[in-house]
Amino acid sequence: MPNAHDERQRQYVVRRAFLVLLQNGRCPCGDDLLGDVHIDHDHSCCDVDRADRACGKCDRAAMHPGCNSTISRVQENPRRLMALARYLDRVAA
Ligand SMILES: [Zn+2]
Ligand SMILES: [Zn+2]
Repeated sequence: MPNAHDERQRQYVVRRAFLVLLQNGRCPCGDDLLGDVHIDHDHSCCDVDRADRACGKCDRAAMHPGCNSTISRVQENPRRLMALARYLDRVAA
């Protein structure tokens, strides 16, 4: 008899596989989703670190763990990310 935690984990794995399929195996960053994959979720719905503890209705995309943590490190602010991308273009020529 699976307990509640096992069931939640099983549902997380199914949601993640479904998202990867929907996204044709690509992360929003453009690269293939190989190996470890995380689900990005809406923190205004579920204020938890990990999507396997979220409600399951606020999933946004499957992505690389690094891409997912990058989004949270810039406080989900696209302007900061674009400014950093311009910076990298300048210095990493
Ligand atoms: Zn990525
Ligand atoms: Zn939620």
